[in-house]
Amino acid sequence: MKKVYFKTFGCRTNIYDTQIMIQNLKDFEVVESEEDAQIVVVNSCTVTNGADSGVRSYINGVNKRGAKVILAGCGAFSKGEDLFKDKKVFGVMGHSEKENINSLLHEKTRFVEMGDLNSLEKTIVSDYLGKSKAFLKIQEGCNFRCSYCIIPYVRGDARSQDEELILDQVRKLALNGYGEFVLTGTNIGSYGQDKKSSLGNLVKRISQIRGVRRIRLGSIEPIQIDDSFREILDEPWLERHLHLALQHTSEEMLRLMRRRNNVKRDLELFEELSSLGYALGTDFITGHPGESQEVWDEAYETLKKFPLTHIHSFVYSKRDGTPSATMKPEVRGDIAKQRLKDIENLVFEKNYEFRKTRAESLDILVEEKKDGLFVGYDQFYNKILIDSNRDILKEWVKIDNYEVKRDVNYAIFEV
Ligand code: SF4
Repeated sequence: MKKVYFKTFGCRTNIYDTQIMIQNLKDFEVVESEEDAQIVVVNSCTVTNGADSGVRSYINGVNKRGAKVILAGCGAFSKGEDLFKDKKVFGVMGHSEKENINSLLHEKTRFVEMGDLNSLEKTIVSDYLGKSKAFLKIQEGCNFRCSYCIIPYVRGDARSQDEELILDQVRKLALNGYGEFVLTGTNIGSYGQDKKSSLGNLVKRISQIRGVRRIRLGSIEPIQIDDSFREILDEPWLERHLHLALQHTSEEMLRLMRRRNNVKRDLELFEELSSLGYALGTDFITGHPGESQEVWDEAYETLKKFPLTHIHSFVYSKRDGTPSATMKPEVRGDIAKQRLKDIENLVFEKNYEFRKTRAESLDILVEEKKDGLFVGYDQFYNKILIDSNRDILKEWVKIDNYEVKRDVNYAIFEV
């Protein structure tokens, strides 16, 4: 049996996609180490020019060892043809070909199978070895066209996974002992628009399945918080943390970025959700072209007003083929990095304040053990380190007494 190694770059959706490919392999053995493999499937990312070069140099390394390289993922669309022509890869497969991987790996001649950008896989991923929570990909693609983003061009327009298929998947995972479910996709807030449903309805149905204890949502766009979503905000099974992608807090930058959100409404929404007890995270890009010092100063002052607890920030990185790639004036890299640091520090302090003022008991799922301590996440998506005399890995624990340290919560748990 030939041995296959999967190398996954990029986002959570790619981790999920790799799992789908693994589940569709019949005649090959999946190995944990690249050195043991005759075939390496590279599930690539193309989100920035930097991501492309990372994938390219990884492939060069594998070629030197002589293993066969199959390119999958978003990079197959943007760079597949070039890499194929340069004979750097044996085969290129598009997103819709994931479920055909077994026969593609049998191919004796070099191939390019790009498939289409409209389909969605039917495979149900029913277990994640070694993980305590389960990821569910509920949709694929995006109908937005933010000016810096290549994703819609390589993953296609938004389409929702069949609701019954998702519910089946949750039932199986719940039977396998999973209690926490993380809903992912390219733009999950658009779920259901093509199916006369909505994210709110789907989440409600998932929550009714026996064994489902907590539901966590990936990134949602502020304009996607609709009435059906507001209906679930009081539900105990919804994680008390939401991640709403602002990307910026300057009206001018949102216009350049071709975003659909608006600073005034965003702030009102954040205040509303915060008053309901939610911890709030966001995505933010610093250094996009046009972000002058004046624009930045104003945006930073506005950001201070947002009740944020988590931030996923990026320095803008050029992606050829997007409108932003030709925009001027560009922002110097060191300035963009400093801005990133400033907002990360700001949100770090806000998170500390949030944890200090929260006098609730924490509902924690323990995910791993590191350096003798258990590591878990509470309902606000804050990390906690637990010193326990009992093995509590993958268990749910309720903790009332804990110490709020500057960077993380800490507890001693004795039974
Ligand atoms: S919402 Fe914007 S940033 Fe997010 S995937 Fe769609 S186009 Fe890209």
